[in-house]
Amino acid sequence: MTTRLYSHPIYLEHLTPPGHPERPDRLRAIARVLEDEAFAALDRVEAPKGDEATILYAHPESHVQKVRAAIPQEGIRAIDADTVASPKSWVAALTAIGAANAAVDDVFSGKADNVFVASRPPGHHAEKTTAMGFCLFNNAAIAARYAQKKHGAERVAIVDWDVHHGNGTQDIFWDDPSVLYCSTHQMPLYPGTGAKSETGAGNIVNAPLAPQTGSDIFREAMRSRVFSAIDDFAPDLIIISAGFDAHHRDPLAEINLTEDDFDWATGELMDRATRHSGNRLVSLLEGGYDLEGLSFSVAAHVKRLMKG
Ligand SMILES: [Zn+2]
Repeated sequence: MTTRLYSHPIYLEHLTPPGHPERPDRLRAIARVLEDEAFAALDRVEAPKGDEATILYAHPESHVQKVRAAIPQEGIRAIDADTVASPKSWVAALTAIGAANAAVDDVFSGKADNVFVASRPPGHHAEKTTAMGFCLFNNAAIAARYAQKKHGAERVAIVDWDVHHGNGTQDIFWDDPSVLYCSTHQMPLYPGTGAKSETGAGNIVNAPLAPQTGSDIFREAMRSRVFSAIDDFAPDLIIISAGFDAHHRDPLAEINLTEDDFDWATGELMDRATRHSGNRLVSLLEGGYDLEGLSFSVAAHVKRLMKG
């Protein structure tokens, strides 16, 4: 397998206030574990700046203007209680989109079998018209639509195993049966959406997990709800909204997964990508707030992507 890794120093310049869980040190911790020689074969590429026009694949122009207007000249400005912008946030967000779209290009051109994007700010809480939950633009949603417009993908599956429900991705694809959105997440928990009864146009599959859920129930939920939906859908591309805050060490939630669970889920999704999608799999970092839980989980995830 050829596995490509996108990152960029600009991601460290999207600043959040002291004590904020979504902080630049998350990417520093990931970079440190990926220095290990086990990752020598990774194809490391500096993320390109994204094309602003592709934001409109998932958000209206009014949202783009609203985010642009929220970027401060200096310091850190609050957009809501937990979502902020700093002077470099615009370029960082655009470079997160650029990496997600480039990853799609890579798996369709055959430059890579799969790609992991280590970027911030994350994206899955960003709704069509609302930046929230540390997210400004929905990277996964933009990349899915980019695959459809640029590479003729008919069906794209987004699998979101971040411990929070990806309300933004659900909102964007609510009435779009060409994109399957599957999410495992703790419930109740922020942002409050993600009940089983939320099914959109039949393309939304939510698998809520009770607090204290561990490996067995998580795996059963993936098997019975997520993998079966993917097999029925037969996507041309699988995108993972890869948050690692369902790790037992994470301070923001109470799900008790380990690195082994992320390794397992990655392998299972790679099997589906082989079966349905010509191996095409793109993984985008979302949450994960305990530096050890995050970095060890990313290591297990990327190791599995490289191994096949
Ligand atoms: Zn999360």
